[in-house]
Amino acid sequence: MIQNTIENECFFLSSVTSIKALPNENLNEIGFWGRSNVGKSSLLNSIVTNPIARTSKNPGRTTSLNFFEVPKRVRFVDFPGYGYAKKSKIEVYEWNKLILDYLKIRKNLFAIFLLIDSRHCLKKNDILALELLELFKKNFFIVLTKIDKVKKNDLDSCCKNIYHVIKNNKFAKKSVFFTSSKKNEGIKELRKVILAIK
Ligand code: GDP
Repeated sequence: MIQNTIENECFFLSSVTSIKALPNENLNEIGFWGRSNVGKSSLLNSIVTNPIARTSKNPGRTTSLNFFEVPKRVRFVDFPGYGYAKKSKIEVYEWNKLILDYLKIRKNLFAIFLLIDSRHCLKKNDILALELLELFKKNFFIVLTKIDKVKKNDLDSCCKNIYHVIKNNKFAKKSVFFTSSKKNEGIKELRKVILAIK
């Protein structure tokens, strides 16, 4: 039988605002990225066996790279969310720099889960994030969130739109996940990706 639980508990490791303070590179990492309020914390909590990341109704709260570790298995990296209008330009610049530096130098980054809110589908910033991941030649998976909130037709047209945008990226082409943390949909599939990491 295919194993489908992440057997060990996940714990908060560190919160990093400077690239100099990154933890060691002895475990594969998966980055969680997307717009503020896209459902990152909820998704992370659905994937692991114990609740870890606080969910919040205040978008833009995460201002650092937050590392969560499942010992001997994997590390999850919660990125600052983008597209939150109330943050100052300097703050946004600093987060972006931190993310860019991390993407550039991190050898143990296995993949990024790029979360897209299925209610809004691809926004300008999402496309910029996709382009950046392609440019940096990063493995990434597109994870549509909150699918319990949208009608099937809208989900289909969102999916078409996404495939159109990513048609040149072979890796992402095969890898769009449909999830709802609320209804626990698509979570097993994401766990499989994580459990397949050697
Ligand atoms: P983050 O800012 O990206 O970490 O987003 P959160 O996980 O804090 O979620 C933002 C809001 O969306 C919260 O009010 C969540 O309850 C809600 N939310 C997250 N995932 C889902 C989902 O799958 N379905 C629905 N209906 N709401 C969700």
